[in-house]
Amino acid sequence: MLTLTSPIGDVHGVGPATAQKLTRLGIATVIDLLSHVPIRHEDLRHTTPIARLHTDATSVIRGRLQLVTSRRGYRRRRISITEGLISDKTGTVKVVWFNQPYLTDHFAPGDEVFLVGRLVNNAFGPQLQSPLIEKLGEKRLLAGRILPIYRATEGLTQRQIRVLITSALPAARKVPDWLPEEVRSSERLMALSTAVAEIHFPTSLPKLAAARERLKFDELLPFMLATLRLDAATDASSAHPIPFTEDHVRTFVQTLPFTLTTDQRRATWEILQDMTKATPMRRLLEGDVGSGKTVVAAVALESVARHGFQSAMLAPTDILARQHYDTLKNLYKGAVTIALLTGTQHERSDSTGASRHDVMTGLDKGEITIVVGTHALLNKKVTLPNLALVIVDEQHRFGVEQRHVLQRKNAVMVPHLLSMTATPIPRTLALTLYGGLKPSFLRQLPPGRTPVETHLTSSTDDTATHTILERSQHGEQAYVVCPLIEESDELGVSAATVEFERLSHGPLSTLRCGLLHGKLPPKEKRRVLEEFRTHTIDVLITTPVVEVGVDIPNATVMLIEGAERFGMAQLHQLRGRVGRSSAPSICFLATDSDNSSALDRLRVLETISDGFALAEEDLKQRGRGDLYGIRQSGLPQFNMASLTDLDLMKRVRTVAAGLLADDPDLIRHPMLKKKTDASFRALHLE
Ligand code: ADP
Ligand code: MG
Repeated sequence: MLTLTSPIGDVHGVGPATAQKLTRLGIATVIDLLSHVPIRHEDLRHTTPIARLHTDATSVIRGRLQLVTSRRGYRRRRISITEGLISDKTGTVKVVWFNQPYLTDHFAPGDEVFLVGRLVNNAFGPQLQSPLIEKLGEKRLLAGRILPIYRATEGLTQRQIRVLITSALPAARKVPDWLPEEVRSSERLMALSTAVAEIHFPTSLPKLAAARERLKFDELLPFMLATLRLDAATDASSAHPIPFTEDHVRTFVQTLPFTLTTDQRRATWEILQDMTKATPMRRLLEGDVGSGKTVVAAVALESVARHGFQSAMLAPTDILARQHYDTLKNLYKGAVTIALLTGTQHERSDSTGASRHDVMTGLDKGEITIVVGTHALLNKKVTLPNLALVIVDEQHRFGVEQRHVLQRKNAVMVPHLLSMTATPIPRTLALTLYGGLKPSFLRQLPPGRTPVETHLTSSTDDTATHTILERSQHGEQAYVVCPLIEESDELGVSAATVEFERLSHGPLSTLRCGLLHGKLPPKEKRRVLEEFRTHTIDVLITTPVVEVGVDIPNATVMLIEGAERFGMAQLHQLRGRVGRSSAPSICFLATDSDNSSALDRLRVLETISDGFALAEEDLKQRGRGDLYGIRQSGLPQFNMASLTDLDLMKRVRTVAAGLLADDPDLIRHPMLKKKTDASFRALHLE
């Protein structure tokens, strides 16, 4: 008897070779196989009369074979061609198969068959090309069904997968339903075992929809439970209240090199208010690229430091951590002791040449009040006894758990949390997902900014390099961003290097060019960026490592090569590296693609400069699926559910809250607990 945990080799028809292919797909057991859900379905329940066939549409034909013969190709002898004629009451059509000579062994004139395929009209006239064929009397996998279409897999045909799933399907009856019965009935959800059967071979479209709903629900519930439990744990803990001393804050704000915008002042005020409480703040600062989130963070950090507590600021890249460290150092002018700690860098503002040990000790003794760093901060060896505030910059780059680890540094008191992001998560989605995380928005850009003028161009058009040359005459600087070309060249090193050679010896040879990519040693990276910042370099030729956060206001031109390779969110982030001063900036999106949907996407960037508006447009263009920027939002990738299933998310959230209200630790729901814990672990990982 096949059970859910039976090895895949036990499934009828799986030999060692097939088992190996399946294992490569991560399918080792029967349950794995059943979890390999179709990406879509094709409704093959209705047949089309031959007279009404349309070219290029997949149709099902029911008719009688008039003829089937196989022969070798005339010119290409290695190809075998099987030809046939099929008729129904309305007409006759020609059928051609390539390299399936065995068909003549199975099918003969006079057979009644189903054909599933596409009608093409080429030099040989209208014909069905390589349709799937099934005899009327036999057990059918195709015709008359709602056919599952699986993710294309190397070495396995759709038909093979369907046959395997069919053999494994009886085991689905034994799938335990981990959802509490009361939830299942109040939410009117299909039983899990039925849903598994229906998702593969639906008996009707409504049943397919119900199966999808059930499986999505199952995916979202553990995630919601994990999130809510995390929130509840935070809410139940204590934080150091930080007094809001208004005159101190005002004095510090007056030392800033610019006046805060109204939005910046409001956000700062909301944060400082939150931190006066004895429960940990959970706030999300959302502001488009260039809106000035860093300075809001700086005010909060300063306030905490002034009251003798420590803060940690987490950034996703070394480059960004270094930049924040330098920015804060400049703003505080020695009044606060701060440190930088990444995998490769360590520095403290009160002494030059401090060792890593000096930095760690300074943190442990509380001599250093603010530490800026990367993942390195999560290391257990980093101790922050007075930690009262954690700021996560570009929060979409981190998992929930990473924030959590940092918040748990301090066993007794939980620090306040400020997450910052430029990802325009729609408000409803934010509330559903983050629940207790209260949003503050920076809607306006600092005064004097003009939108970045954006133009589509091609690799042969030299307008971009001309603009770079011209602008540099006026003392302005430029970025040239190269895409990641091959997967093996993960960091785009070779693309950027080749482009650097070409530009610095060719069109931009009169300028000082620098090369930046992720593989450079940290010191070198820092040097290049510093040279760009201090304008010893005019043009920075780089991989997308500059995507997040880099702030060099004197750069006003950006050329993004192979722009079609980037997503809209990423392009918007990249483009945000320019337009950071009152000088008008310009961004060229170079592409040689002729893919119309790719071009449409790029054209949207020509007309829309606002991140929120872009997000909406992106959503409109794609309909559903991956919401703008969500792919990089630090949230789990669901298999079936999508973060755009807002209504379902709300429902799941309500159910999750209800379950936890009755049974906060899920003691009475052990299966749910197991799944939730697994989801929690998934949240923690990158
Ligand atoms: P982001 O929100 O993308 O992190 P930053 O904090 O890097 O933006 O700020 C972008 C630039 O705008 C920085 O050079 C910063 O100094 C500047 N800036 C921030 N706030 C103001 C302001 N109120 N007036 C003028 N310039 C500002
Ligand atoms: Mg930033």
